[in-house]
Amino acid sequence: MTLSFDPRAKATTLYHGEFRPMFIGGKWVAAQSGQEMQALNPATGEVLATVPRGSAADIDAAVKAARAAFEGPWSKFSPYERQCVLLRIADLFETHWEELSVSDTLDMGLPITRTLANRRRVIGMLRFYAGMATALHGESIDNSIPGEIVSFTRREAVGVVGAIIPWNAPTAASIWKIAPALATGCTIVLKPSEDASLTPLLIARLMQEAGVPDGVVNIVTGTGAEAGARLAEHPDVNKIVFTGSTLTGQAIARAGVTNLKRVSLELGGKSPIIVCRDADIDKAVPVAAMAVFVHSGQICIAGSRLFVAREIHDEFVRRVAEYAGRLRIGHGIDSETEIGPLINARQAGKVEGYIKAGSDEGAQLVTGGSRLTGELYDGGNFIAPTVFGAVSDKMTIAREEIFGPVISAMPFDTLDEAVARANATPYGLAAGIFTTHLGTAHKLARRIKAGSVWVNMYHAIDPAVPFGGMKMSGYGREGGIEHLHEYLETQVGLDPDRLITQ
Ligand code: NAD
Repeated sequence: MTLSFDPRAKATTLYHGEFRPMFIGGKWVAAQSGQEMQALNPATGEVLATVPRGSAADIDAAVKAARAAFEGPWSKFSPYERQCVLLRIADLFETHWEELSVSDTLDMGLPITRTLANRRRVIGMLRFYAGMATALHGESIDNSIPGEIVSFTRREAVGVVGAIIPWNAPTAASIWKIAPALATGCTIVLKPSEDASLTPLLIARLMQEAGVPDGVVNIVTGTGAEAGARLAEHPDVNKIVFTGSTLTGQAIARAGVTNLKRVSLELGGKSPIIVCRDADIDKAVPVAAMAVFVHSGQICIAGSRLFVAREIHDEFVRRVAEYAGRLRIGHGIDSETEIGPLINARQAGKVEGYIKAGSDEGAQLVTGGSRLTGELYDGGNFIAPTVFGAVSDKMTIAREEIFGPVISAMPFDTLDEAVARANATPYGLAAGIFTTHLGTAHKLARRIKAGSVWVNMYHAIDPAVPFGGMKMSGYGREGGIEHLHEYLETQVGLDPDRLITQ
């Protein structure tokens, strides 16, 4: 793809191994302990920068700053003023989008064409929530004693929000947490993943430039065990929004019990794709392949269980494998690259373990299955897009979230069987259905236990549309109006004059 700028040239202007401080109470600071962590480029292994390894003391300072801002200057901002701040941030994101995209690509490997393509979604989120800032309202309820008492509700900000995000979409995940906080009048302490802290720090700079008051948005870099755990259990945090693995989500839900803070969780998945006999195969093949291979499978909604009607199974799987074989794998910073590296050596090793388990348990390796070697891949963590056929529901690769470029394909005979098998998972994040029959699409979609069910498409996430999981994929929704309810309390009031006369 031809870009209007040279990403490699832009990359050389961004990071040179230097120290990048974190952002607390409007100040750029090191960790109180003085400890640092390295931010590595997953494509090359080079050190991009170092960042503070924040711990409990830094989280405490950030929560204190967030509380002071919540009760102080930020509480004086009208909804209209908060809207203006969000719109200024959106404008700055437009101006700096190339820089933000290059930073994400360097820090977590997603190809530059894809980080650039997230523009509409991320800036759309900022503008969507800007619009919502002035649209929040309560309601009046006139049914207590008719004609005597009118109750009304008002919505108020929940308070200090703690946000913990994974590494696979730092810009989008940061904005999905920060924008609704700003729209509702909350303040926020965000802890990015230790594997991708750099772009959230750039975002903090843009927040400052847009006039967000000190302490409203704080970014504390650090590990989950140190900084994340303290944020989750902090007694002065009113709400935690978390995106990450189900195991960590369970720990966060337990930690939140300390002060019964409100918790919403966007967790892992093992999403099914059902390709019906009447599917448009030409259109379905690339979508089904990229439902997993985009970002080397490191997406929560990866459609990693591919159920295909037996009549077309062999042809479909062969074509998905051929498609996989044609994908250009390399450094994300090159505009021709379609698939980048895995985030780190640990994750690559984990994926290799799953591939071995697939072969050991009797699945048939159709394509891929190995780590890529050679000059281009030196120092990075690259695994070839992998397709397994003859997979059975009981195999490890069909049950566990791999978070890597691995498709497990399985034939089915009836739609009832496909639905039952698709639902036979503890997860319920997303699903895909491929059919040319509208009635089949509707009937299947409502029977699948997943927060998002896409028909003849995948990955469609829009700022105005709620997104989230069922079952062990979490609870709460991000996106849309529903998302704002996560950041708001409801208070009931009565007409004061009537009260006095009672
Ligand atoms: P992870 O759970 O290991 O880490 C996520 C975040 O939690 C990181 O910031 C980490 O530092 C922090 N953390 C770790 N332990 C913690 C603890 N005990 N207390 C508080 N914080 C802690 O997940 P990951 O490896 O970064 O990301 C991959 C996982 O995220 C996958 O399971 C994927 O499905 C999921 N994910 C879900 C969504 C979604 O929207 N549902 C989106 C992206 C990723």
